[in-house]
Amino acid sequence: MGFEHLRTELEEMKQAGTFRNLVALESAQHNRVTIDGKELIQLSSNNYLGLAAHPRLAEQAAEAARTFGAGTGSVRTIAGTLEMHQAFERELATFKHTEAALVFQSGFATNLGVLSALLGPEDVVISDELNHASIIDGIRLTKAKRRIYKHVDLADLEAALQETQDARTRLIVTDGVFSMDGNIAPLPEIVELAERYDALVMVDDAHASGVLGEAGRGTVNHFGLDGRVALQVGTLSKAIGVLGGYVACEQHVKDYLIHKGRPFLFSTSHPPAVVEANREALRVMEEETELFDRLWENTEFFKQGLRDLGFDIGTSTTPITPVIVGDEARCHELSDRLRQEGVFAQGIAFPTVAKGKARVRTIVTAEHTREDLTTALAAFEKVGRELNLIG
Ligand code: PMP
Repeated sequence: MGFEHLRTELEEMKQAGTFRNLVALESAQHNRVTIDGKELIQLSSNNYLGLAAHPRLAEQAAEAARTFGAGTGSVRTIAGTLEMHQAFERELATFKHTEAALVFQSGFATNLGVLSALLGPEDVVISDELNHASIIDGIRLTKAKRRIYKHVDLADLEAALQETQDARTRLIVTDGVFSMDGNIAPLPEIVELAERYDALVMVDDAHASGVLGEAGRGTVNHFGLDGRVALQVGTLSKAIGVLGGYVACEQHVKDYLIHKGRPFLFSTSHPPAVVEANREALRVMEEETELFDRLWENTEFFKQGLRDLGFDIGTSTTPITPVIVGDEARCHELSDRLRQEGVFAQGIAFPTVAKGKARVRTIVTAEHTREDLTTALAAFEKVGRELNLIG
């Protein structure tokens, strides 16, 4: 019924080779997964530390469900706050070295809630052009003026700060690690500029929490900037392995968000299994420090392997390694052929990345064995030659 024009658009996507079916896993999220009955090396998840199916997290989730039930039956502000929600937020604040932390249903909801609640028409939000979609949408929801600066361009950022001196608050927003290129934001320079111009900084560490900094505390800790960044947003669904998002901040900011953060106010709280699995993830990260060693050893090994084969892998210095193809249909062809060769590495194209910048984005995890990565590199070599991506 209705929406006939959508059929035309979908047909055009099919003709252009850009229509994608959802891929369903038939196994748990590990270094190897089963798809269509076939075991594949998983290079497309954000499961950096291998916590998504870690037995300690699964056990805590099961135990919490048995004791406290499957759901909470209310939003946090009415009847849906359990003691465990509050305990977890205290633990997160300790983890991030901040006064307080507030959990939202997802990282996406956190950015929407934080940006829309904290900024008004007197304020200016100054945002990197390649920030994540949830930041872009959060900015759309604010009444603040907006100024987008060129990607990691400090001169343009400084110009933005000079242009906006009359504002009540200037909030500079940046991804800590950019999700499609894997490059790290120049946070020390950003913080220095912010301090010089009396502005504040918000960093989205979705791809840095659990990856960078001591025991995965994120970019702020990685650069020794504890106490100098007003808002640290993170997700609980990538390295932490479960679900949710949070902002680590000062107590008065948290108190305000409890009253004004719309996704927090109007959406039901996390089930006990989610909360307790998240709490266990923080403990695992403090205790199983070898996970970080393995993540970084795998990162270096795989990046070097792709580089040696002659692929264009951009400038990433994190476990995210894009294999840049350019043309969208060709990128999906690379991904499809890799899959036939036993490697699950998804193509990513417009609108997630700019037109002409389509890439197969790979992410290695702490769970990958050397054999997984060697096998994957052999598949990249074979298919890369076939498609003339490498010599
Ligand atoms: N911010 C960034 C930079 C992200 O990459 C993502 C995940 N794609 C999010 C926020 C959203 O996090 P979540 O999946 O928890 O909603």
